Amino acid sequence: MRLSRYFLPVLKENPAEAQIVSHRYMLRAGMIKQQAAGIYSWLPMGFRVLRRIEEIVHQEQVRAGHIPLLMPTLQPADLWRESGRYGDYGEEMLRIRDRHGRDMLYGPTNEEMITDIFRSHVSSYKDLPLTLYHIQWKFRDEVRPRFGVMRGREFLMKDGYNFDIDKDAALHAYNRHMVSYLRTYERMGLTAIPMRAASGPIGGDNTHEFLVLANTGESEVFYDDRVTALKLGKRDIDYDDRGQVAKVCEEFTELYARTDETHDPVMFETVPEAHRKVGRGIEVGQIFYFGTKYSEPMGATVVNEKGERVPIHGGSHGIGVSRLLGAIIEASHDDRGIIWPEGVTPFPVGIVNLKQGDGAADAACEGLYKALRAKGLEALYDDRDERAGAKFATMDLIGLPWRITVGPRGLANGVVELTSRRTGESEEMSPEAAVARVA
Ligand code: ATP
Ligand code: MG
Ligand code: MG
Ligand code: MG
Repeated sequence: MRLSRYFLPVLKENPAEAQIVSHRYMLRAGMIKQQAAGIYSWLPMGFRVLRRIEEIVHQEQVRAGHIPLLMPTLQPADLWRESGRYGDYGEEMLRIRDRHGRDMLYGPTNEEMITDIFRSHVSSYKDLPLTLYHIQWKFRDEVRPRFGVMRGREFLMKDGYNFDIDKDAALHAYNRHMVSYLRTYERMGLTAIPMRAASGPIGGDNTHEFLVLANTGESEVFYDDRVTALKLGKRDIDYDDRGQVAKVCEEFTELYARTDETHDPVMFETVPEAHRKVGRGIEVGQIFYFGTKYSEPMGATVVNEKGERVPIHGGSHGIGVSRLLGAIIEASHDDRGIIWPEGVTPFPVGIVNLKQGDGAADAACEGLYKALRAKGLEALYDDRDERAGAKFATMDLIGLPWRITVGPRGLANGVVELTSRRTGESEEMSPEAAVARVA
């Protein structure tokens, strides 16, 4: 992408309304524009990152054996009357009436709708286990939308729903979600700690939230700091192997880690003092096992091996896809801007031409751009007629992992400069070597 032809409305000043760094940088880097409280347009740079995050979420869900579909944003109120939640959900639900006077709502979550799909088409234990998920916009009329995309009213969520024959099978689905989430967050360069949580309006006895540690997080968290060192890494996971999956979950949940809702001060005392930490965290996901909470009232049953009709055991599992952009920036930035982890960066590398219009510099930049593209890497080439300082400031703000700086002086010696955004270290090398290093 050539910056001169792109749409990157960078702001020079700090927007007054942004209280936290991720919100500030997302506005300044031209990633989002607020349209109403908690409702945003995703400008090209923000949209690129959102798509990358979505793609990682999809890949890890499919790897775990879960099946994507797409449900609508608008739902009929009648489904929610069946489960009894139409009244219970309260003011967070945006209620709409269509021209025929039918009550509708903008979905805050999809347990009812997916249960309706299930009961319409599945009737035998032979079709289980089944986990369906989608990535779709949700609306919750939050009292205090704030912090940009972190607490929006309209936000993108991955929500998945498992349908199983009994509690054991449903708990395996729960564990599968936990492991797939760990891998998802790791690929985004995040440490997200599963913490025992209390169930909210979704209901259920088994639930964990995934929290990214950050001072600006809205949840208070209590944990043994050895959990932060746990990594899934490149371990080979067989998602059908109940024992293996359960073991990974045990490893990641045996150390103390809880939010304020479930915190147990007496138990916390048993954590060695040197490891006992109190801090704040951002909730980037949550998994629930809720048994027959929806299948019973809504009649989602299957015929079991003995020929009896039984309600399925279910759970629901969410990832805050749009909130993740904020969480990643909170976890990875400095005072000059964002530092994107390689896994989610909008562009892998930026090219800065120090002297636009200089024949040698222009040709070298074009050559780099093409060589990177040949390796499947889309560079962001700053080909504008701007001062070097302004170009560097933009590159630092938007936070691409690598910058290749090209100028007549270096080219006279056959070199360009390769700079790592994370370490700030620069090294001179031939253009070919720079391409090889980035790729
Ligand atoms: P919170 O406690 O932050 O209000 P929640 O517990 O109500 O979140 P869930 O119902 O568990 O949210 O939804 C799954 C995920 O969706 C959350 O873990 C979070 O990452 C994301 N999410 C929830 N509400 C919002 C919001 N208003 N804006 C952006 N993301 C959200
Ligand atoms: Mg909420
Ligand atoms: Mg919550
Ligand atoms: Mg939650």
